[in-house]
Amino acid sequence: MTQDARSEIRADLMSRVPRWYSPWLHLLAPGIVGLAIIAFAVSRVHDPRGWELALVPLFFLASNAIEWHAHRDLLHRRTWPLEELYVRHTPQHHAVFVAEDMFIREWREMKLVLLPAWGVLAILVAGSPVAVLFVLVGAPNVAALWVATMTSYVLMYEWLHLAYHLPADGPIGRLRVTRWLRRHHQRHHSPQLMQKWNFNVTIPVWDHVRGTVWHAADAPAPAMPRRA
Ligand SMILES: [Zn+2]
Ligand SMILES: [Zn+2]
Repeated sequence: MTQDARSEIRADLMSRVPRWYSPWLHLLAPGIVGLAIIAFAVSRVHDPRGWELALVPLFFLASNAIEWHAHRDLLHRRTWPLEELYVRHTPQHHAVFVAEDMFIREWREMKLVLLPAWGVLAILVAGSPVAVLFVLVGAPNVAALWVATMTSYVLMYEWLHLAYHLPADGPIGRLRVTRWLRRHHQRHHSPQLMQKWNFNVTIPVWDHVRGTVWHAADAPAPAMPRRA
């Protein structure tokens, strides 16, 4: 896609952002609700046993695998009835942001990076049957730990993904941790690589398990420095 075509898509998408849209509200509202859910869930954990706490890293790993699958199968493939997720991601997010042009140019462009509020809610609703199941089998601590881990994961996804798309010379973009994690997602934003490689947005654990971490030998990826 040419630079002009991308600029046109960007201008068109931004012209459709409603006048009342507040990027700060978009960022803060799910964050505050999410933190409240985490605080509530943690407050429901009573005298946890070692094996219950040991499940937290497993829940994290499960969330990482779900992120990988959702990104590959829902965000990069048109899947009924969630076509909207595909449209927002592949022909929109990936059209505006490519590896060599990754950064938002104004705060309102957060609209093109953050999940819609209903999407955040949908993820939490989709994960809640697991909590119900744990309550039903008499493991309320595990249910609460699952809710806390899953919600933390969603917030981590949102905030890290936004951090990668913030200007590289800004206070967050230039942090060492942002630069280190951004590299993986930035490669994913190469149009030639996005359908096959680097599906983890947070921390690329499941990409390693599934062998989808892109290496220079796998496919050409112009416009970015070679992997060390
Ligand atoms: Zn992105
Ligand atoms: Zn993608």
